[in-house]
Amino acid sequence: MSDRAFDVVVVGSCMTDLVSQAPRLPKAGETIHGHKFFIGFGGKGANQCIQAARLGVKTAMICKVGKDFFGDNYIQNFKDNDVHTDFVWQTSDAATGAASITVNDAVPWEGENAIVIVAGANMRLGEEELQKALTAIRKAKVLVCQLEISSQTSLRALQMAHDNKVRTIFNPAPAIPDLDFGFYRVSDVFCCNESEAELLTGYSVNNVEDAHQAAQELLRRGCTAVIITLGPQGCVVLKAQDKTSTHVPSTAVKAVDTTGAGDSFIGALAFYLAHHPDMPLEEMARRANQVAAVSVQAVGTQTSFPFKRDLPADLF
Ligand code: ATP
Repeated sequence: MSDRAFDVVVVGSCMTDLVSQAPRLPKAGETIHGHKFFIGFGGKGANQCIQAARLGVKTAMICKVGKDFFGDNYIQNFKDNDVHTDFVWQTSDAATGAASITVNDAVPWEGENAIVIVAGANMRLGEEELQKALTAIRKAKVLVCQLEISSQTSLRALQMAHDNKVRTIFNPAPAIPDLDFGFYRVSDVFCCNESEAELLTGYSVNNVEDAHQAAQELLRRGCTAVIITLGPQGCVVLKAQDKTSTHVPSTAVKAVDTTGAGDSFIGALAFYLAHHPDMPLEEMARRANQVAAVSVQAVGTQTSFPFKRDLPADLF
């Protein structure tokens, strides 16, 4: 196992997306012909890690995949993106996490789809693996977690980082009601989107003004800073030392596919937190908005995430 120090360590999920495009969704018991099939790499943890790596920091992924074709393939994908894989474990007890997605492309603007997600090996990541990766967690500049693995494992990883003064970003996605308040106390940046903010606070979050209110409520629960992302409107940032939150607008672009925009934003935020630790959080958010705005102008999830070479030098 590696004793190297990493800038960004992500503890989270890997999912293989199996996408079929068809003229309509099949009914129960029915088989229909589709016209296109492709396999994509996804999972919020892996997406965020790969976005950070593409911006040029040393990253490591702590996760579990199956001992199967998709697991092998995913490990190669990490290597192709310069993500360290000593902490990517393979298990024979469950398959690599997968999402079977059928898209009705007769009405693409309606986005009609049917999705079955099987978390599989992601749920087998636990304390034992975190202990094996403890040195990497302790030496990291930034640790990032989400909720697509066991929430106990996410909380434990955040606690380990927090105890070792490693800065943490927690993305409570997919959101669960009654989130353990322990998550707030170990989050340096608690970063969620509008619908997650709504589910967690019980407030309706439909605009910038609502987001300011929801951010105050999330901050009261004990985190050091809150960011709520607002799609084309950018995000709202609130720090514990400030009384009021700041709206950080995004760049106006022609979006073609916003899938994974939130993960691109968080991966970029992790990059800035590791690379420019003293930069004001609002400036990190402004730059992360710009990285995510590039991702929405291309199709796919990881396929749309920009590399350092695709971005203006003043973002670095
Ligand atoms: P997803 O679930 O699709 O990954 P999300 O709901 O978690 O996304 P959003 O709030 O939609 O996250 O978007 C994250 C960030 O991406 C925004 O804060 C913004 O910076 C950027 N973004 C998203 N949509 C657009 C857009 N249409 N134009 C410009 N920037 C965008």
